[in-house]
Amino acid sequence: MTKVIDGKAFAANVRAQVAAHVARLREEQGIQPGLAVVLVGEDPASQVYVRNKHASTIEVGMASFEHRLSADTREADLLALIAALNADPKVHGILVQLPLPKHLNSDLVINAIDPAKDVDGFHISNVGLLGTGQKSMVPCTPLGCLMMLRDHHGSLAGLNAVVVGRSNIVGKPMAQLLLGDSCTVTIAHSRTKDLAEVCKRADILVAAVGRPEMITGDMVKPGATVIDVGINRIERDGKAKLVGDVHYESAAKVAGAITPVPGGVGPMTIACLLANTLTACCRANSLPEPE
Ligand code: NDP
Repeated sequence: MTKVIDGKAFAANVRAQVAAHVARLREEQGIQPGLAVVLVGEDPASQVYVRNKHASTIEVGMASFEHRLSADTREADLLALIAALNADPKVHGILVQLPLPKHLNSDLVINAIDPAKDVDGFHISNVGLLGTGQKSMVPCTPLGCLMMLRDHHGSLAGLNAVVVGRSNIVGKPMAQLLLGDSCTVTIAHSRTKDLAEVCKRADILVAAVGRPEMITGDMVKPGATVIDVGINRIERDGKAKLVGDVHYESAAKVAGAITPVPGGVGPMTIACLLANTLTACCRANSLPEPE
């Protein structure tokens, strides 16, 4: 029987734990963790993400600071806002919603965030800390994947993991986390030869490609755990539909466990953002971190 990994339920549990910790912080220390989200422009998908982040932040008892800037915002003005948020003691986490409009340099903007408040884990210091196995802020999507994998497998040591996709926000940090848990890691990408054969060796297969239903059942090792990071909006039979990078029907027949889309990795990303904000708040106040 294939196990469907219920990311929605898992995320609800993480959010409940964060909420309980936040309530204790407020009661015992008089501290309220705060998350600032900066959205530049009117990208429809980004607007939905930002709305969801705001609602989830409030729901767990944190303060939410939303900054919506017009698409033609000057880089200097955005950097000035980030400097103000860096200096604001009520703000423990800062997230700049990507992608930014083309005239803004994303690397420059992300690296202007105080690494201690970089709850997305994209600042070059956090990337370096993760790569060298030191305490860092870990990118939310791969962190959510790792939590579900640990929950399903217990120890990941010695398992063959294949990550399809090498982006800075998903593929590369995912591979680092799996390596940190002693998997034997392969990173595949658009230039990989015989992708099907590479995928078929995986005990853990993570798809972060951005191509609807590209990973099919014949590419999956029997009994493997398949984590589908992809979020693709497609139209089928005249209706809008959300699908992953994995062809669910065929892969679920072969896999031992699989995450669905929607309801898999997606909800875990926001839950991990809240968990990271709580961690940042605890570190800023020299308090014990959540486990
Ligand atoms: P990117 O476009 O930045 O990276 C895609 C990666 O896939 C690249 O490394 C690319 O290789 C590789 N790739 C593209 N085509 C192929 C192919 N035919 N064969 C093998 N590899 C290929 O995407 P992201 O990492 O940002 O996102 C990946 C997916 O995850 C998207 O669907 C996105 O929507 C989703 N996502 C979901 C999140 C969530 O919360 N669930 C959060 C973030 C992303 P190359 O480097 O060679 O070009």
